[in-house]
Amino acid sequence: MRILVFCAHADDEVIGMGGTLRKLADAGAHIRLVMFSAGAEGYSRPEEKTTITQTRRRETRAVCDILGIREYVNLEGMDWSLSVDNGTYRQVIHHIREFRPDAVFTHSMNDYSDHMAVSQVSTEGWFHAALPCAMEKDPVWKQVPLYEFEVIQTMNRPSLVVDITDTFAAKKRAMEVYASQTGIVGSVFQMMEGRAMERGYLIGVRYGEAFLRSSYKPRPVRKIQTLLEKE
Ligand SMILES: [Zn+2]
Repeated sequence: MRILVFCAHADDEVIGMGGTLRKLADAGAHIRLVMFSAGAEGYSRPEEKTTITQTRRRETRAVCDILGIREYVNLEGMDWSLSVDNGTYRQVIHHIREFRPDAVFTHSMNDYSDHMAVSQVSTEGWFHAALPCAMEKDPVWKQVPLYEFEVIQTMNRPSLVVDITDTFAAKKRAMEVYASQTGIVGSVFQMMEGRAMERGYLIGVRYGEAFLRSSYKPRPVRKIQTLLEKE
C-alpha cells in the first residue's frame, strides 16, 4: 500500500488524518507526505522569525516518526500565498507519477484559503496525472482514489469514517510535538478530541476521522453489480 498525502502546513496532516496515518503505517503502508508551506509565518515572537522554518521542519520530522510517515518533502511555499499555478500543478503531477500511490489524500475544498489552494491544485494534478498531458519522464499513473480530509471546517457529509480509537493517542502525541505552534493553535486538543468523538459517533466507535472521496472525476460503472458493492 502506497499512500501520498498533500497538505498545506505542518500540523494539517496530524489534525486531518494523524490517527489514520498511524493506522495505515501499522498495516505496512509506505507513506509520503508532501507539504506545500515551509511555515515562515508561524512564529509567535519576533526573535523566532529567522529560525521558525527550521524549527517546524524539525518538528515535522519527529511527527513523521510518531505517525510512521517514511518520506517527507517540503515544497518551501510561503504561508498565505500558496497558489494554484502551473508550477505547483506540475509538482503534484510529478509526485503522483513518480511515487505511484494506491490512494491520495488532500485538504477538503471546503476550508480556508491555503487549504483550499492545496485542495484545488492537488485535485487538478491528480486528475491530470492519469492523462497523457504535461508528460515528462514519469509515465502516466492510473486514477487511484482521492480522499479529502478536514482541518478547520468540518465536512457536511463525509463518505468514509476511519475508526482511530487505537491510534488517537499517537495523533495527540504528534500534535504535542508541534510545540512552536502552541500559542497559535489555541485549544486545538479540545477540538481534536471533540471532533474525533463526533466522527466516531457516526460509526459507533469512540474516536474517528472523516473523509470525503472525491467525485471530481466520477468513477465509471462497468458492471452493474458495482452499484451494490460496499465501499
Ligand atoms: Zn493548515
